[in-house]
Amino acid sequence: MDEVVKSLKKIINESNKIVAFTGAGFSAESGISTFRGAGGLWSKYDPNIYANINVFLQDSTYYWNFFKDERYPVIKKAKPNPGHYALVKLEKSGKLYRVITQNIDGLHQEAGQTGVIELHGSTRKINCLSCGKVYSMDEAYKLLEKELPPKCSCGGNLKPGTILFGEPLPQDAVDMAKIASKNCDLFIVLGSSLVVFPAASMPRIAKKNGAKLVIINIDPTPFDEIADIVINGSTSKILSEVI
Ligand SMILES: [Zn+2]
Repeated sequence: MDEVVKSLKKIINESNKIVAFTGAGFSAESGISTFRGAGGLWSKYDPNIYANINVFLQDSTYYWNFFKDERYPVIKKAKPNPGHYALVKLEKSGKLYRVITQNIDGLHQEAGQTGVIELHGSTRKINCLSCGKVYSMDEAYKLLEKELPPKCSCGGNLKPGTILFGEPLPQDAVDMAKIASKNCDLFIVLGSSLVVFPAASMPRIAKKNGAKLVIINIDPTPFDEIADIVINGSTSKILSEVI
């Protein structure tokens, strides 16, 4: 392990344009449960009912109940972990070019990170579908306590800023992520199993354009074979040791 950590340190020192790509495993260490797999959120709430755009447009109470009982309390309580702060430190050193995240909890920004590309949107922004007004999570929660589903002051319906099943990813975020992947000299995967497309295409784009690829994840990923370094372990522990 020490040898691997040493070589990771060396690769980071030699790189000047680093992209960090974070997934659910990165936020899991902040107490946010993962969606997939045993014990994941989707084993308790069927995403095709609770987080599906077609169901949402017909009857949004499923989603808002899920938000009220499960998402809001967990994300409200969650704090950035040492991994988030290590990336902020890396950004301040001038080496970190972009953070691309699959996470919707806004913890990178809360830790002080700038230049975050959110591929799946953010739980912290709730939009009115009629007038476009943006509400914070707290404001939406207050409206939710008054009536279900919650309504904007204009009477319009509210929609979470996260991407629901059946919705395309935000094209501007995907484009920015692809450009960042193409232009970086080191691509570090942190806590993502790299199975969801098009997010999972990013490491390949980086590698194809000459970047080094590092994967830190609890479980093996389909990209381990083309990676320069693979570490199966805790992202926050390893990052705070290296950065
Ligand atoms: Zn409105």
